[in-house]
Amino acid sequence: MVKPVIPIRKETPGGPLPLIPNTLSAVHGRTLDRRQRPLRDLRISVTDRCNFRCTYCMPKEVFDQNYPYLAQSELLSFEEIHRLTTIFVSLGVEKIRLTGGEPLLRKNLETLISMLAKIRTPQNQMLDLTLTTNGSLLSKKAALLKEAGLQRLTVSLDALDDVVFKAMNDVDYPVRDVLDGIEAAQKVGFQGIKVNMVVKKGVNDHEILPMAKYFRNRGITLRFIEFMDVGSSNGWNLDQVLPSAEVIAKISEEFPLEQLDPNYSGEVAQRWRYQDGAGEIGVISSVTQAFCHECSRARLSTDGQLFLCLFATEGFDFKTLIRSGRSDLEIANAVMQTWSNREDRYSEIRHLHTKDLERKQRKVEMSYIGG
Ligand code: SAM
Ligand code: SF4
Ligand code: SF4
Repeated sequence: MVKPVIPIRKETPGGPLPLIPNTLSAVHGRTLDRRQRPLRDLRISVTDRCNFRCTYCMPKEVFDQNYPYLAQSELLSFEEIHRLTTIFVSLGVEKIRLTGGEPLLRKNLETLISMLAKIRTPQNQMLDLTLTTNGSLLSKKAALLKEAGLQRLTVSLDALDDVVFKAMNDVDYPVRDVLDGIEAAQKVGFQGIKVNMVVKKGVNDHEILPMAKYFRNRGITLRFIEFMDVGSSNGWNLDQVLPSAEVIAKISEEFPLEQLDPNYSGEVAQRWRYQDGAGEIGVISSVTQAFCHECSRARLSTDGQLFLCLFATEGFDFKTLIRSGRSDLEIANAVMQTWSNREDRYSEIRHLHTKDLERKQRKVEMSYIGG
């Protein structure tokens, strides 16, 4: 059995920076990493728990009743998440995604959302505040999320066929309930909902067309994600990756597509539109077309460790820092210093990561770090 990964905790950088700004507003806009990538996007994992056991993310054999989930006292509180978010926003972050684990399992999440929705950028703009969910609690929670100020939603769904979907979520969860959740979200006014489908060759690739057909003309953007080697327990194998180019070719045969420009620099998904006007789809090709050169994402784990890459083996301990009486400016400086030393570009150098290296440097699980 594969043992769960306990992430390495690094002390956050201490000591003075060469140029320490003396107000938070002076810090703004200075956060480039070693590859000149700005910090724009923060993903916050609000729980490491989930009610699904997707085989590619939290396989049952590893995430069983003995798995060392975080204790309540280890989780960042809403006040701590709000404080850190405010600091990240002062450094240039414009987009916040709440994720997990299953974020809707975190009690009173709508309270956190309403706190985050009030934060403004230094230019007095609202944040792009969004959430990724497996949809199982969406029917119940959609109205509360909308009222709290959540702007956008991504729902994960890997197949329309119940047998295939149940085998992938591995808890016998039916497709219909996720679709009901999506419809409930549309009814309360969420627009531009995205649906994420992880494609595993030989497992659900025959569901690509049925999914495309279903979500066309519904105002929903379906995004196909290449199966990734996140974490150290999902048994990833390159043979199970269906390149996005094949997804596009398959759909184009039936519904001709044309490529669109990205909405903004650093957008993860490549955009395509149906030529007949039925909407758009996206492909996220982390394996076959790495996009590290534009990656402006940091991840904050459920217990306040900052990760600079989805495939990181170590995080920086911001929970200890914020619980030790440091000022916002000191924490902002620590974030700046951490980001300015960043060199991560795992997907571009994936081929260099041999099995031996992986065994020595085990990657952190996605459910903990936030997808
Ligand atoms: N539980 C929520 C959900 O499933 O939407 C949020 C967390 S989940 C880790 C975030 C996203 O990561 C989901 O869309 C999921 O399908 C995707 N994901 C998880 N494991 C993956 C893998 N090995 N390869 C590609 N995508 C993966
Ligand atoms: Fe849970 Fe999301 Fe991971 Fe599936 S992908 S096991 S729903 S966290
Ligand atoms: Fe960003 Fe790391 Fe993914 Fe590259 S591999 S795009 S650096 S998260």
